[in-house]
Amino acid sequence: MSPYRAPLALVRLALNQAAEISGARALPGYDEVLRDLAEPILESASRFAGDVLSPLNPVGDRTPSRCEPQGVVTPPGFVEAYRRFCADGWVSLAAPTEHGGQGLPTLISAAVTEMWGGANLSFAMCPELTLGALGALRVHASTDLVDLYAAHITSGEWATAMCLTEPQAGSDLSTVRTRAEPDGDAWRLFGRKIFISWGDHDLTDNIIHFVLARTSDAPPGVKGISLFLVPKKVPAADGTVTKNDIDAVSIEHKMGIRASPTCVMVLGEHGGARGWLVGKLHDGLGCMFTMMNHMRLGVGLHSLGLAERSLQLARDYARERLQGRNTSGAQRPIIEHADVRRMLLLMKSLTQAARGLAYTAAATLDVAHSAKDPTQRAVATRRADLLTPVVKAWCSDVAVEVSSLGVQVHGGTGFVDDAEISQVYRDARIGPIFEGTNYIQAQDLLSRKVVRDRGAVLGELLAEIEKAAQALAPSGAHARPLAHLQSGLLDGCAALRQAAAELIERSAREPELIGATAYNFLHWLGILAGGWQLALSATRAGAELNAKEAQAVVDLAAFYGAHVLPRASTHEAIVRRGAETVAKAATADL
Ligand SMILES: Cc1cc2nc3c(=O)[nH]c(=O)nc-3n(C[C@H](O)[C@H](O)[C@H](O)COP(=O)(O)OP(=O)(O)OC[C@H]3O[C@@H](n4cnc5c(N)ncnc54)[C@H](O)[C@@H]3O)c2cc1C
Repeated sequence: MSPYRAPLALVRLALNQAAEISGARALPGYDEVLRDLAEPILESASRFAGDVLSPLNPVGDRTPSRCEPQGVVTPPGFVEAYRRFCADGWVSLAAPTEHGGQGLPTLISAAVTEMWGGANLSFAMCPELTLGALGALRVHASTDLVDLYAAHITSGEWATAMCLTEPQAGSDLSTVRTRAEPDGDAWRLFGRKIFISWGDHDLTDNIIHFVLARTSDAPPGVKGISLFLVPKKVPAADGTVTKNDIDAVSIEHKMGIRASPTCVMVLGEHGGARGWLVGKLHDGLGCMFTMMNHMRLGVGLHSLGLAERSLQLARDYARERLQGRNTSGAQRPIIEHADVRRMLLLMKSLTQAARGLAYTAAATLDVAHSAKDPTQRAVATRRADLLTPVVKAWCSDVAVEVSSLGVQVHGGTGFVDDAEISQVYRDARIGPIFEGTNYIQAQDLLSRKVVRDRGAVLGELLAEIEKAAQALAPSGAHARPLAHLQSGLLDGCAALRQAAAELIERSAREPELIGATAYNFLHWLGILAGGWQLALSATRAGAELNAKEAQAVVDLAAFYGAHVLPRASTHEAIVRRGAETVAKAATADL
């Protein structure tokens, strides 16, 4: 099976589109970076992903990370690949220049992140934590902490880990029990964290943990949680390090991402793990959100990469596998069968729609961080806040659907362990679960990003989707399907706007309403936003791609209009009628 390769023409199309519609292209220097640097970076990332990370992917599945007395040992080849990854500058790509980073736009880093996820999700998860950790340090930590840690993290010399989850504290972090006690100018931490990705490993000498814990004077609930930096080895100003009291005691045996060590971490077995406060006391969850928001976008991008990889594997297989005969009796490759083409087009259109959406969120973050005008920054921040849960949840659900279709295209061959598509399917399944389950994303979207501002930011997004739909000029062979895309988007936006207004109005007096409708609301918006991206691409493709590529993009948009957009009506019906059923089901016998 051929190794992963990024679909560079489609990546470029989505990248330029995202830079345009987010307003990022107008940022100082942005256009030059996209014009002069994007191409070589994307090409060399695609090569690294294909030549180095992709061949290690099945190795990691068959020889998972393991927990030894001296610590966690990663699969063969991972240490060397990580060293090359750092030496080639991939960890520091979008990190701030003042800490040794290259300061490139989030948008470019997003396209590259997709490639790491597509080639080897287990590996990709380790460096993905870096930018979020740097963000949390820079925004919330003292200058002393930033000076001591930021440069080592930026270079990839020290990895990072996020320690939130405990046995009783999963989605509900208000029940975190890990304790922090004052110890001079620092703290001592005691507790047990579970499910910590890359909590221990042999890729780096040091691992910097960001740990949620509770101080003894803390109020109950989420308001009493604080964030602490707890290094595996405590560095001193003279460069020496001392082992800290934090250890991985076991790792999980999982259905997917087997090379990524998912650790049970114990803190304070020997007198307390030394930790330093990040941000204000009792404001830990807010500080952690800086890191988690980055990771939510990261999950969307990695998932998108897995969807792309599924498509590549399925397409290659379908070209070679012979089943059925044509009218002259010759055997046909299954790619010639209409239903197999249906599956492949569904995979490709969902993937490209998700790519457009995730890149748009990334470019919007660039505007939120770098625009000179504070109003423009504020508008972009609100848009990115709205898009983040959609990118995380919709793209990760898309990856599960697309990789499942990938297995289907392979038939029985896809169901055996040796088939890479079966690994991709298993790996993709974590996306909807971690970094906040997809329901938690949907709840965040509906209650915090839609109801709270009475639909204002959502309304702006819907207006843009409508504008893109109106600009579509259905013509040629695809006139009818493109007309369906156009009318589906226009009708869908009008209906979603109205449904949102009703939900906003009813939610204050119907406590179950958000819970009963949020998941379908998010998917409804995801499908419309994905259609928005493909409508824009269909309009732009002729100017950016060669004739064959451009026609393929129009084909995708038309296919999406006919095969995916109609799902919006199902979500609409469920949002409108489903609430009562779910509320009544509280007493149903399950
Ligand atoms: C491979 C892997 C890696 C991970 N990596 C990390 C990591 O690096 N750091 C870290 O801190 N954690 C990590 N996690 C933990 C992960 O973030 C949690 O598993 C996730 O947040 C869900 O928590 P839970 O497993 O306790 O499920 P639960 O919270 O028990 O949820 C179970 C189900 O109930 C639903 N549910 C829960 N609460 C509500 C509610 N209020 N309303 C409606 N439905 C609800 C959920 O949506 C879900 O469907 C990892 C987990 C895995 C499996």
